[in-house]
Amino acid sequence: MSAIDRFRLAGVMGHPVLHSRSPRLHDYWLRQHGLAGAYVPLDIRPERLGGALRALPALGFSGVNLTIPHKVAALGLVDATDESARAVGAVNCVVVRPDGSLLGANYDGFGFLESVRESAPGWRADAGPIVVLGAGGAARAVLVALKGAGAGEIRLVNRTAGRAGDLAGEIGPPAAAVAWAERGDALAGAAMLVNATSLGMTGQPPLDLPLATLPREALVVDIVYAPRRTALLAAAGARGNPLVFGLGMLLHQARPAFRDWFGIMPAVTPDLVALIEATI
Ligand code: NAP
Repeated sequence: MSAIDRFRLAGVMGHPVLHSRSPRLHDYWLRQHGLAGAYVPLDIRPERLGGALRALPALGFSGVNLTIPHKVAALGLVDATDESARAVGAVNCVVVRPDGSLLGANYDGFGFLESVRESAPGWRADAGPIVVLGAGGAARAVLVALKGAGAGEIRLVNRTAGRAGDLAGEIGPPAAAVAWAERGDALAGAAMLVNATSLGMTGQPPLDLPLATLPREALVVDIVYAPRRTALLAAAGARGNPLVFGLGMLLHQARPAFRDWFGIMPAVTPDLVALIEATI
């Protein structure tokens, strides 16, 4: 057995954290690329996040992912943020730089766009109106990504009208808020529909959305990945709409994090998809 050059360390900080699928994902890539290392779940209480992040360089970590409830708080705790984190207002990836300083990034938008392009290779953001349901953290990343990709019109629909209005105001044109009661009508003429609410997720209420006015060519994306085939995707698929499953976003957002930490941009392979699907 040959000597290893170094033992690579990364992880995910959350509270709770044991449900995270990221350890399986990154351990798969470490093994695939023959790198000695580990990616560990780190249960960090909110009041200890600053101390935990500061310990990373001393412990020899290359970086960490952040999940609930740390993504927004980390913005004020890292030494620098890249454009992706500033635009979304949250950090989901921390990179320990050679001088020991911490850089915060957010790859949710990258993961969203990559998963869409993988499932629908000819997709263009400016193909027609896009309806986005939700105004939470995930919706914000989706909106920033869609605007950056050149979307011409985004109809932002959320149950709490104030949150939709605030977020549409922050994003600016092409995003405009639409009332939750109008969500069925908002689908008329749409080229794309994205569910970025938690509705339809295992343990959450179903998404009540009549699809009658949605054109059958419209791309339907559900970023909820548990269950894999949500009721929205099942209903849209049954009427012929092309589909994008939420698992793709989860897998693709992990790729640039692995690259930043370990120097290799990994791929989403069928084996990896099967490995993670088996946990859902
Ligand atoms: P969040 O910040 O808590 O936002 C939740 C959103 O769902 C809000 O817009 C909320 O509307 C809406 N909502 C919740 N319950 C509702 C109800 N009963 N009726 C109508 N709307 C309701 O959560 P998040 O972090 O954005 O995550 C949203 C979903 O995206 C989760 O299921 C998460 O697992 C998924 N996600 C997937 C990925 C991926 O990689 N595939 C990445 C991130 C998140 P109000 O504003 O009215 O409360």
